[in-house]
Amino acid sequence: MHPIHRASSTNKDLEATGPLEAKVTMTNKEPILFRNCRFALTCSGCPIHEHTSILIENGHVVSIGGKLPSGGKAGHVIECGEHSIAVPCMYNAHAHAAMSVLRGYYSDAELHDWLQAMWFVERRLSSREAFLGSLVSGIEMLFSGTCGFMDMYFFPGEAAEAARQLGLRARVGPVIMGDVDPYRAVEEARRYARKLLGDPLVGGVINVHSIYAAPLEAIREGHSAAVELGVPFHIHVSETRREVYEAKKRYGAFPVELLGKLGALSENTVLVHAGWIASWELGLVKEKGSSLVHCPASNMKLATAGHFPLYEAMESGINVALGTDGPASNDSLNMFSEMKIAVLLQRHSYWDTRVKAHHVLRAATIGSARAMMLPRGAGTLQLGAPGDVVVVNSVTPSALPLRRDNLEQVLVYSCEKCTPDYVVINGELVLSPEKKQQLLEEAVKAAKQLNEFIERIGPGKESKPPCSPRTACRQA
Ligand SMILES: [Zn+2]
Repeated sequence: MHPIHRASSTNKDLEATGPLEAKVTMTNKEPILFRNCRFALTCSGCPIHEHTSILIENGHVVSIGGKLPSGGKAGHVIECGEHSIAVPCMYNAHAHAAMSVLRGYYSDAELHDWLQAMWFVERRLSSREAFLGSLVSGIEMLFSGTCGFMDMYFFPGEAAEAARQLGLRARVGPVIMGDVDPYRAVEEARRYARKLLGDPLVGGVINVHSIYAAPLEAIREGHSAAVELGVPFHIHVSETRREVYEAKKRYGAFPVELLGKLGALSENTVLVHAGWIASWELGLVKEKGSSLVHCPASNMKLATAGHFPLYEAMESGINVALGTDGPASNDSLNMFSEMKIAVLLQRHSYWDTRVKAHHVLRAATIGSARAMMLPRGAGTLQLGAPGDVVVVNSVTPSALPLRRDNLEQVLVYSCEKCTPDYVVINGELVLSPEKKQQLLEEAVKAAKQLNEFIERIGPGKESKPPCSPRTACRQA
């Protein structure tokens, strides 16, 4: 019997996540052993193990490396296969999961025009469509190696339910937007987040839509609630030039600067888009330890332009995460594609190749995990890290030939069509070849009902955003 070697934790990326203890809380979960994986990547930029095994026990990675003979360990033993790559999970740090109901709906318009079409449908949505939309999105995420998402949408209970049914990690909470009483709205969000404290899979988040679609008092109060509860404070910011112009005219401050003045920048703060962030505002983000989320496909599709300063942000030590945004503004939730698009957009903006594959791989894994405030070690296969593992099958022509020296590049540039054979989240096997067909059938069934809803309501536009949460709206 070959010994399983303890993985090295000398890599810079691992150090950045802080030392982990291999000692873990005991649970009754069945151990899962992946045996004979062709490659295993511990984290972005980490050494690559070849012909290796990974043991997940009590919800955590407890060993990696070496080769075990069959039947050597109790629990669920899975033969990885000659073409398998075991990688850390990706996490989608910004999504509106239920919006798969709006995939391809009014797709070819700019942000503010597009939003009016979205608001028309959103005012007519029920919890049923929100659940079905989240379910389709969750299945899409699982099928493309994403183990969790931070959501900003109405009907957070339905997103949570879809995540639980699929075994995905999620951050959910009511979105605060429209003509709301800010104190009542934040109280509702606080109450919701508090209920989820201690849940190992689905946690809370305080979602305030933006500085232009929510009262400023909701930003100040919402941020305090997030800090008090230890959950992320999640907000769209500096997405368009118009937003910056309006903020300057109305408040005499740039959007991120305004958040600073409101006391809403801290380690809990997650700033989404930031394509029009001023270079000097990065100093505020760095000083307060806030995270930035890059959503390159959505920014290009909605023609919001600007430039997300990924390289400067990462070099200065700011945590950068990656997100897809909603399925109506991307229109994909595939984080493999998002990584490639991020590199391409960055190179197009910088006119050089300073942004490398490892930068975006880090953002999609460790960076997103940090922004979502997931347990320490998430986004790596470090010893003691949460048991979140994706085993990708590289047998797709676009990902071949695969070698140790091109593995990270294949994952970032050639893996849009890679589908995981197995996904383990929090130590539970949530995707396997047997489960795939069943999930696919569920997605098709849900999509049929979503189409019936879209046909029933027909096209239209609303000039005002829906008000949320409903209990805090000033007008019915
Ligand atoms: Zn968004």
